[in-house]
Amino acid sequence: MTSVHDSKPEVSIVVPVYNEFDNLPDLVARIDEAMRQQPLSYELIAVDDGSTDGSAKRLKELAEQHPWVRAVCLVRNYGQSSALQAGFDRVRGRYVVTLDADLQNEPGDIPLLLERLENDPDVDMVSGWRKNRQDKALSRRLPSVLANRLISSSTNVKLHDYGCALKAYRREIIDRIRLYGELHRFIPSLARDAGARIAEVPVRHHARTRGVSKYGIDRTFRVILDLIFIVFFMRFRQRPLHAFGGLGLWLATPGILILLWLLGEKIMGESIGGRPLLMAGVMLVLMGMQFIAAGLIGELLTRIYYESGSGLQYYAKEYGAVETAPEPQAS
Ligand code: UDP
Ligand code: MG
Repeated sequence: MTSVHDSKPEVSIVVPVYNEFDNLPDLVARIDEAMRQQPLSYELIAVDDGSTDGSAKRLKELAEQHPWVRAVCLVRNYGQSSALQAGFDRVRGRYVVTLDADLQNEPGDIPLLLERLENDPDVDMVSGWRKNRQDKALSRRLPSVLANRLISSSTNVKLHDYGCALKAYRREIIDRIRLYGELHRFIPSLARDAGARIAEVPVRHHARTRGVSKYGIDRTFRVILDLIFIVFFMRFRQRPLHAFGGLGLWLATPGILILLWLLGEKIMGESIGGRPLLMAGVMLVLMGMQFIAAGLIGELLTRIYYESGSGLQYYAKEYGAVETAPEPQAS
């Protein structure tokens, strides 16, 4: 049954997996069932992100049973972004679909997204919109409403729901972006930046029935920092000096004038005793700003490092029926 056609599927479905043992058989069955309803050939690239519950072994077994399933096993937990990237590095289809392993996304919606890409040449990426999100209100939905607003107003992507894992892309968009850290949360901004025209399609969403969420309120602060960075990145990447340089000049100029004035007074023999608390306050604010600025410059360097291709992102082993080795990625 192996033909050239089979060995290079038209759709590559990428799923990051971290401790989802109980979800895996159903995940594979439900994706298969959904994809049989549509005309394109497909493969599943399931990326085990260093699970400790036997998910990797189960994925290998599934890959042995189903020729359309490939298991990529990362040697430790790198996080959802790197897991997705490990999948993206191996896609062969002209369309790429992502969804979560926990069946919170509805595999039955995949054909809907693909249909849009097939029929609408003006769209490069279709993003799921969880109109009926089934997650905790305070710890999950509220931060994400705020994040959606903030990203909408600070980047040129206007979406209702950035965080939905169920998305479909034309392959070239995937080839143009690189994920690491927590960047998977900002894929629409990165894709838009890579020239993608993005459409949003309402999709179903279910509560998790098996396993536990890997994210809690503790991640909110990290996400806020990522948000600061992504906004900074989108606006100032080509001129990082502009981000803080102007502010720095506005602060430094009066500072220099004050010092000159104090120097003058000193020379005239006057006492220049000051108000230590005020000074401390000013210093703390300035130091805080400098730390943030240094952090952002650091992020910028990290990003250049990863995207130049020299940054190590993950170690992986691959299992499953791969008739042809994945082609080298054009960069
Ligand atoms: N995941 C992962 N690595 C991690 C954390 C999560 O690959 O370090 C996967 C997880 O198995 C799931 C998806 O990312 O397929 C989303 O995670 P989860 O369902 O826990 O997030 P939530 O739906 O609660 O936002
Ligand atoms: Mg989930």
